[in-house]
Amino acid sequence: MKGKAKYFEELRRYCETVPLVDCHDHSVNLEPKYEDPIIAIKSGYFNSDLLSASSDEDIRILDDTSRSLEERWPILEKAWKRTCHTGYAQVTKRVLKKFYNEDDLTLEALIRMQGKLLDLSDEKTFTSILKEANIAVRIEDVWPDVRKVIDGTLKMTPLSRLVISLPGYHNICNYESVQVNVAPLGRTVTSLDEYLDACREIFDAHKQFGAVAFKDQSAYERPIDYGNPTRAEAEAVFNRFMEDPRRKAAYPDGIKPLDDYLFHEFMRMARDLDLPVQIHTGHMASIRNDIVKTNAVGLTKVIELHRDVRFDLFHANWPYSGELLFLCKNYPNVSIDFCWANIIDPIYCQNMFKQALSCVPHGKIHGYGSDFVGCVDRTWAHAQIARENIAIALSDMVEIEYLGLDEAKEVAYGWLFGNANEFFRLGL
Ligand SMILES: [Zn+2]
Repeated sequence: MKGKAKYFEELRRYCETVPLVDCHDHSVNLEPKYEDPIIAIKSGYFNSDLLSASSDEDIRILDDTSRSLEERWPILEKAWKRTCHTGYAQVTKRVLKKFYNEDDLTLEALIRMQGKLLDLSDEKTFTSILKEANIAVRIEDVWPDVRKVIDGTLKMTPLSRLVISLPGYHNICNYESVQVNVAPLGRTVTSLDEYLDACREIFDAHKQFGAVAFKDQSAYERPIDYGNPTRAEAEAVFNRFMEDPRRKAAYPDGIKPLDDYLFHEFMRMARDLDLPVQIHTGHMASIRNDIVKTNAVGLTKVIELHRDVRFDLFHANWPYSGELLFLCKNYPNVSIDFCWANIIDPIYCQNMFKQALSCVPHGKIHGYGSDFVGCVDRTWAHAQIARENIAIALSDMVEIEYLGLDEAKEVAYGWLFGNANEFFRLGL
């Protein structure tokens, strides 16, 4: 993408020189080792747009690698023609060009790709792509084996800093889910007090290991407008399933008092550990989920109550930009994180970057997070798109003489690197 403003090119080049804090990602392992060109095309998020443009049956056929490329191509071609202009497709096109030197998606291109598919399980390849994207550090939500966090042996992918994956600790519904959570400590818990103590110990161990934040994506499963139930209400749920390991609290109403209570307790722990809390808001991966429950505005009561907790609200709350801009303007403890959003909807982000500059403190914006599982070929393309979005937005603002070019560079530096470095205390 190219901006129309006079200083676009200069700002784009400047953005390329600024190292990135990748604010959110899920690279559990060095992966994948692509073995099928169609899978290589649809990996990352693009599969969701292909599905949205075709059908479950079509995707099932595309995924069936026992069928030949020739047999699957007509289905991919038909879907591609209907969805080749989305942000996700932009990623695919850039990967095609950069790593396979292909200008178009065709059957011939797929056949040529076959012999040279990327092997991202190779550490050298993986690292060199991150280096080329000029990524300095990556904040990783990798749902680790907690035993390895506690004993310090967890091996992470290059440049990673750990976060504490929170949802599993509060959406508990039976005896088993409680004991699984505390098992890494080698103990069995019998009461709510013991459970909270165990969670605190586990989170402490994460911080010892180097965790830089908590991360919560409960919005996939429940509305994020947490209530504030009493301890007695929560404990009643907990005790009911603990006294009979065969009982299960009903989802979602049966577990809600306990789930909400624990969430607030964990916010207090985040405060005491002085770790920020990253929360998924807005659009969700895959398709067919309910967006209303994920709107960041649902967190208002949580944000107002926990004033000493710093919240990093994700995905630019797509498609509810106005609500998130309000929250960031209105509450000192709210930052906007554009992770993933830059490819969900590049134009939304270009507009929102401009609007953010004009209405919220620019020091509260985190501009990039790749949000893939492995797939650093996509991470590279995503980084390029994020830099372009920021360069387009800021050069437009320079063009209307809203700010000067040097000031725009300073803002870009903050959005790509400086703000997140400070917010997550990365010490870079
Ligand atoms: Zn994510």
